Amino acid sequence: MKIDGYTRTCGLFGNPVEHTMSPAIHNTLAQAMGQNLVYVPFHVPFGQVKEAVEGALALNLLGVNVTVPYKQEVIPFLKEIDPLAERIGAVNTLVRTEGGYRGYNTDMPGLYRAMCEDGVVPEGETVLVLGAGGVARAVVMLLAEKGAARVVILNRTVEKAERIAEEINGMVHRRFAEALALSDFHRLPEGERFLCIQATNVGMFPRTQEALIEEESFYRRVHTGYDLIFNPVRTRFMEAVEAAGGRAFNGLKMLLWQGIIAYELWTGSKVDGALAREAYEAMRQAMKLV
Ligand code: NAP
Repeated sequence: MKIDGYTRTCGLFGNPVEHTMSPAIHNTLAQAMGQNLVYVPFHVPFGQVKEAVEGALALNLLGVNVTVPYKQEVIPFLKEIDPLAERIGAVNTLVRTEGGYRGYNTDMPGLYRAMCEDGVVPEGETVLVLGAGGVARAVVMLLAEKGAARVVILNRTVEKAERIAEEINGMVHRRFAEALALSDFHRLPEGERFLCIQATNVGMFPRTQEALIEEESFYRRVHTGYDLIFNPVRTRFMEAVEAAGGRAFNGLKMLLWQGIIAYELWTGSKVDGALAREAYEAMRQAMKLV
């Protein structure tokens, strides 16, 4: 990689950032496309997001990704926000504009792109969403936008699932989403099989032997399981879906595509399928999967 006086810098704000795979994605793209750009992680101390955004602007950073725990906290320090990011209430990508940054959410378009690549089509489906955190809420919005028929949100704290269902139903002016306590999954119609999106932290490294729902009878109701977790690459949830005869996917491609969409926003260039595969392999190598 050649770095000179013309090199543009992009980076990641988070805390922690030490385990990020994003440099592998963006530096591979920049190198393969012959763009003079470098991507580096920035560990932002708690309470210093404002200073980080101002610093990025002062240092002429072209673009920034924002990860946990700052995706909401960063919003007041932006010059503009994209309408999708505003609806979701979380920003993971900052794009430099005249006098400040414009915030985007590329996580949800990234998830949709990943699902399309995996042949998982939410249109017309009743979808089970596991979890009611920030990502689950965004997933429910995505599903409404992409024409899913109905969503059932299952969460440990059922009140949080109810709040999301109410909010989304108000937005789409119909009874699109409903909440269900985890222990009530048996109320889902028997004999019907669903697309299920796993949007909780349960099963993430190092607690890889856990799944939000353990009962086998739940997984007999799932024809496709989409786990947003990517570490480990094969979760307990995925194993249970496959054991019951369903197809299962992890969150690696979502991670890849949220990065590619951010890169396209920063550079204005288009990443084709061959290059996306190259970045995917670089990411897998960085995770020591190959
Ligand atoms: P969050 O806001 O903290 O929400 C966490 C969710 O997990 C809540 O529904 C919570 O239930 C549930 N949960 C956590 N621990 C639990 C436990 N021990 N038992 C039962 N439920 C538990 O997190 P988030 O930001 O939405 O992120 C959720 C997941 O998305 C993470 O695993 C992350 O890896 C994944 N993600 C993936 C990508 C990607 O690119 N692939 C990008 C972003 C996020 P309660 O409401 O009851 O607490």
